[in-house]
Amino acid sequence: MPLLEIDDVCVTYGRGNRFLRRADTSHTAVEHVSLTAERRQIVGVVGESGSGKSSLAKAVVGLIEPQSGEIRLGGEVLPLKRPVEVRRRMQMVFQDPSSALNPSLTVGQAIVELLRRGGMDRTAARTRAAELIDMVGLSSSTLDAKPMALSGGQRQRASIARALATDPEVIVADEPTSALDVSVQATVLNLLRGLAESLGLAVLFITHDLGVVRRLCDDVAVMHKGRVVERGPTAAIFEAPADPYTQQLLASMPTLSRRTTC
Ligand code: ADP
Ligand code: MG
Repeated sequence: MPLLEIDDVCVTYGRGNRFLRRADTSHTAVEHVSLTAERRQIVGVVGESGSGKSSLAKAVVGLIEPQSGEIRLGGEVLPLKRPVEVRRRMQMVFQDPSSALNPSLTVGQAIVELLRRGGMDRTAARTRAAELIDMVGLSSSTLDAKPMALSGGQRQRASIARALATDPEVIVADEPTSALDVSVQATVLNLLRGLAESLGLAVLFITHDLGVVRRLCDDVAVMHKGRVVERGPTAAIFEAPADPYTQQLLASMPTLSRRTTC
């Protein structure tokens, strides 16, 4: 059984608000999406801006409620209102790491705070924070820095360290490298790959960038207008895309030879 199962999920905006209940104001951003991710697997979700990727990501981690469908973790159906112990099993990494790192706290304080909320005492939390910062390839002095004092790549690593503080089984990363320079991007992608392997994480990796998908993802789902139009092993889809939209996306990637693997 896959660790994460997204089953026929729909996300609609503009419903439930009595001032916005007219039919023309409700908008379905995600339509009947089904996807799975196994432990140690990185599943890419790729599509152009507005295709529903972030809405899907937020529904998976419980930041928004899907209109219909089911999300299962380890075979267990997750309730719409997620209890805190369920929320800790899935963490989201955002494009902008300052969404996760409070600018007024040091990186160490932000990580320790989350560990303490999970019931750890201060000494154990400090030790664990040092381990986590090491796991993401940062030096222990980073713990004493405020997020704004770090480079973009360091800040994203620190936000990943914080995400790992709850010992999640699933990471949903929404364009985590899109704001980074290409050379820095590669190091963060390598980090995510290493963490998926060493911690047995299932990673849902959201991006508009096909180059990143090809480099990182085992499987890929192509989203278009809220639907998954094609899904399968990345190599197979890059080699022989079946859906016209996927073909069009791949054709618009002139700088990358589709047949080269890396
Ligand atoms: P992506 O991440 O692929 O760019 P989004 O999930 O952000 O796509 O958006 C999908 C669609 O849902 C878009 O048409 C967007 O305008 C709409 N949308 C996103 N968030 C909201 C919201 N909070 N309220 C209403 N519509 C939204
Ligand atoms: Mg988005």
